Amino acid sequence: MRPVNKWQVGQNGVVIEYNPHTEAKTKLLENFGNEPFYYCSYCDRVIPKVNMEVEHIQCVHHYPQQEYLWNNFLLACKNCNLTKGDEDFAPGNVLLPHLQNTWNCFIVNNDGTMTADTTNALAYNRALRTVEIWGLDRGFSHARRQPQDDRFDVRRHILILAKRALSHYQNGVPNYMDEIVDQAIAYGFWYVWMKVFENHQTVQDALILAFNNTYANCRATNVNRI
Ligand SMILES: [Zn+2]
Repeated sequence: MRPVNKWQVGQNGVVIEYNPHTEAKTKLLENFGNEPFYYCSYCDRVIPKVNMEVEHIQCVHHYPQQEYLWNNFLLACKNCNLTKGDEDFAPGNVLLPHLQNTWNCFIVNNDGTMTADTTNALAYNRALRTVEIWGLDRGFSHARRQPQDDRFDVRRHILILAKRALSHYQNGVPNYMDEIVDQAIAYGFWYVWMKVFENHQTVQDALILAFNNTYANCRATNVNRI
């Protein structure tokens, strides 16, 4: 889950309310995307513009007064949106990419699933709840995975690509960093690329810079934003 700087009301033409809520989509795409590539706020996958959904962080079923409020919106893929459904949760019990530093709170497993990182004690309980609500741990054999939920499988493929890119980079293929960043932008899953290149700070620097509005201080150990 890439930590992002979400625009505030009044910034870049953002207004308090969007009615209907779908009117906020253009601004959210501008805020979080690298045109023509747009990323789900939760699973990090690339979603075509036409399929990206304006997601209510707190669902309108429980919080109808939040239906049109910019502060209650993020972008989500259909899998993340459907998996969360009408789940009611306290924001203080989860990690949200625009409010917390969501870097280093999760593990990317070889099967493409994500789990809470036990070594990050400050974030662990919230990371667990986040994984559960958005079903980020639902792999091929997970009992509650819906058949159309292929997030883990796409992430698994991108993990393979990123590891191959790491190998080329370590073997000194000339000018390969630009290639890595170009691939990451087009394939998405910023978090996967950051994990694979965790011993190469210059590549991480480039990934943080290249994905629009990534929280620049993400490698600090804070969970809440400084
Ligand atoms: Zn998603």
